[in-house]
Amino acid sequence: MKNRIITALALVFALALCSIPLTSYAADREFVTIGLKYQSSDVTAELSSSDGLKLCKKGDNAIDVSSDALDGTGDIVLALSNGRIAVKDKKGNVLANLKGDGTECIVSSGYFTTDDYISFDGTSYRGGIIPYINRSGQMNILNYVGMDDYIKGVLHREMSQSSNLEALKAQAVTARSFAESKRGTHKSQGFDLCATSHCQNYIGVKGEYTSTNEAVESTSGQMIYYEGKPVAGFYFANSGGHTENSEDVWTSKLGYARGKVDEYSPDYTWSNTFTRAELTDMFSSRGLGTVTSVSVDSYNESGYAASLTITGTKKSVTFTKDKIRSAFSGKSLKSRMFTLDTDGGELTAAGNASPETEKTLYYAVTSKGQEVLGNILSVLSLDGMSALNLNGIRILDGSGKITTASADETANTVSSSEVKFNSDSDKLIINGRGNGHGVGMSQQGAIEMGKRGFTYKDILKYYYTDIEVK
Ligand SMILES: [Zn+2]
Repeated sequence: MKNRIITALALVFALALCSIPLTSYAADREFVTIGLKYQSSDVTAELSSSDGLKLCKKGDNAIDVSSDALDGTGDIVLALSNGRIAVKDKKGNVLANLKGDGTECIVSSGYFTTDDYISFDGTSYRGGIIPYINRSGQMNILNYVGMDDYIKGVLHREMSQSSNLEALKAQAVTARSFAESKRGTHKSQGFDLCATSHCQNYIGVKGEYTSTNEAVESTSGQMIYYEGKPVAGFYFANSGGHTENSEDVWTSKLGYARGKVDEYSPDYTWSNTFTRAELTDMFSSRGLGTVTSVSVDSYNESGYAASLTITGTKKSVTFTKDKIRSAFSGKSLKSRMFTLDTDGGELTAAGNASPETEKTLYYAVTSKGQEVLGNILSVLSLDGMSALNLNGIRILDGSGKITTASADETANTVSSSEVKFNSDSDKLIINGRGNGHGVGMSQQGAIEMGKRGFTYKDILKYYYTDIEVK
């Protein structure tokens, strides 16, 4: 009788376990495959773990124990030979032979109990290592790792671990959404994402900090959704006071990446100077001849340059959208929010100013003369420096009429301009604000919002349009 009760209880318990609902989509439990080494002619790779290593199988969002062929050996060498991979110990004994088809995964023996790491060429990684023979017969080394564990090795590389927690949480969600939406980028090479800035910088466990891991764990699995799908959370350093529409930087119009006034952007200015001689030299391979002028032909409503033309005695070349930032080879511009000036040459308004550029402009008269203002005015009061958004401000004009400025009226605050040169020593001066492409979240703005008490969801919803965070 007693045995039957125990059996019945065990059955109830087993049924209870079975009825735990399986989540259909949980990014914290999703795995990603990261390319650590590829397009390399190296035929050997070293793996190690102080707990010993185990040969397993790549499972469906898991690593499955399948054999103990390595017998707990802690240091192994993978050696590619005749289309197979031999697993050898330090003495050269062959412990196993692998097909390298992407199904074989090597982990630390402690992986299943203490989440221990595996080291590849001296760098520790969470998850497992997959040796994969690519189409060219080369050995790729891949890291098969849970999404959150991957983001732990990314976060500090994208935003300093010393930033406040809410900003780090916003960055963690953004990085996770980016990874999910870019999954399969390197499919033809056998993995999802690479470990460089082409996808996201990832350096494994050595990139982890208490603060960044807390930001990842406290937002576990959360992403940015637009129209029900996770979307690439683009980000950059500093907006200069306004962010950009995605199509004005690249090509696709993304509903969640709309340009807007950024009232939390800390001031960040920069300046690049080129002599005419330097410019002539820089553009000689394009057959421009001697450079005679540089002009910004048009600006977007965001205040970012939309088109820049370099004219020479033989021909001219025009750069548009984000190509403008890399137009001056070897001396990239930090952003496209800039104005032209000169030392020695002539600065004139470009003749083709569109009607939009004649909208309301705000001027400040300073000791250096008259200056055109952007949408954000910095105000120094007894409480320190703060930003005043000029949108919605009331204006008393010369005729005594009072109007309220709208975003439209304040949008185009910069006119097209041109610098003409007369001699080789004449200088082009480019004075800019902001840093980065301008699409999505400003990281410095996110840090400023965090300091002012906003949550990571407030930050994400401020920089991305019509999104959900879940
Ligand atoms: Zn990549």
